[in-house]
Amino acid sequence: MIPLPTPSVAALAAYDPGHDLATLRGTAGPRGLVELGSNENAFGPCEAALAILRDSSAADLLRYPDPHCHFLKAALANHHGVVATEVVVGNGSHELLMLLAQAYAGTGDEVLYSQFGFAVYAVAANSVGATGVTAPALPAEHDTAPRGHDLEALAAALSSRTRLVYLANPNNPTGTAFAVHTFAKFMAAVPAHVLVVVDEAYIEYADYPAAASVTACREDFANLVVTRTFSKIHALAGLRIGYAIAHPGVVATLDRLRETFNINAPAQSAAMAALADAAHVDACRIRNRHQRQALAAALRGLGLHVPDSHGNFVLVDFGGGARQAAQVEQSLLDQGVVVRPMRGYGLAQCLRITVGTETEQSRLLEALRVALA
Ligand SMILES: *Cc1c(COP(=O)(O)O)cnc(C)c1O
Repeated sequence: MIPLPTPSVAALAAYDPGHDLATLRGTAGPRGLVELGSNENAFGPCEAALAILRDSSAADLLRYPDPHCHFLKAALANHHGVVATEVVVGNGSHELLMLLAQAYAGTGDEVLYSQFGFAVYAVAANSVGATGVTAPALPAEHDTAPRGHDLEALAAALSSRTRLVYLANPNNPTGTAFAVHTFAKFMAAVPAHVLVVVDEAYIEYADYPAAASVTACREDFANLVVTRTFSKIHALAGLRIGYAIAHPGVVATLDRLRETFNINAPAQSAAMAALADAAHVDACRIRNRHQRQALAAALRGLGLHVPDSHGNFVLVDFGGGARQAAQVEQSLLDQGVVVRPMRGYGLAQCLRITVGTETEQSRLLEALRVALA
């Protein structure tokens, strides 16, 4: 007999990170593992960020990091045209998404998100004992955003118990995006006491102007929180840094709740270097678009259904059914190629494939031809 956690924690299903990559790397064949399952940026971080990590000294490591992320926050505030008290930095945006639920929802409250929304939102809601409410997504045949967020359905799902809303733009795993003007209409329907979190982990990849950041809407809506990350286009997923732009009152709340030294010192410095290298971000965006188009075209050439994506990944629909997708996934894995199964999203007939380098995508396509044969 051991002490029991709270009922909501006892019932909690943790976020599923996909495969056990550490083990897979160790057992991969001579050609190595092709990792296209976690939406990292295959093109890598900028040289300046790498140099900072390479040149870390004993002094950088023996001291506690700056608990206020003073310089990084100032750089982020400057980058976004806000003040530093509107910025909070997290150990990945994942930490901030969890803290937002902890601070703003509890037992008896509802947390609203879309069908096919990012899996962390349900974990965040359930972890604090709140009720997760799912609004239906747009139909799979929708011309511009198949399975994307339906902002009208989300507005209709608001109730007197809703405290928090999570939206991803662009969305993982559907690759869909909504327009700022549609979002502003949604915000007008949301009561001021409800916090709306827009997760812009992939916004730098989005094809403008179809998809643009909603940060400008913060002028009209104090209850809007925008989260960003260094894990995707900045290619620093291993360092764990994300941030939110929010009303100073929301920032102060999260600052009281977060672990004091949540961002390690090399990560703070490397993030500043990455933020300063706009040319690298632009190069990654362009390269990603090129590779994404090539990947989608090749997959469509194999007769697969691949909706357009605004991210660094594509959702591949095997139409037929869950069995084919599972068989293909296993065959790819056997050939040393990792993609992400979508069962957890209720999309068992789909696989999500991250955009890779030319070499990685060739290996994927070669393995896929074998899998489909
Ligand atoms: C990858 C991803 C994130 C980023 O998480 P970090 O904790 O910042 O690495 C956030 N939201 C979505 C939808 C993602 O896919």
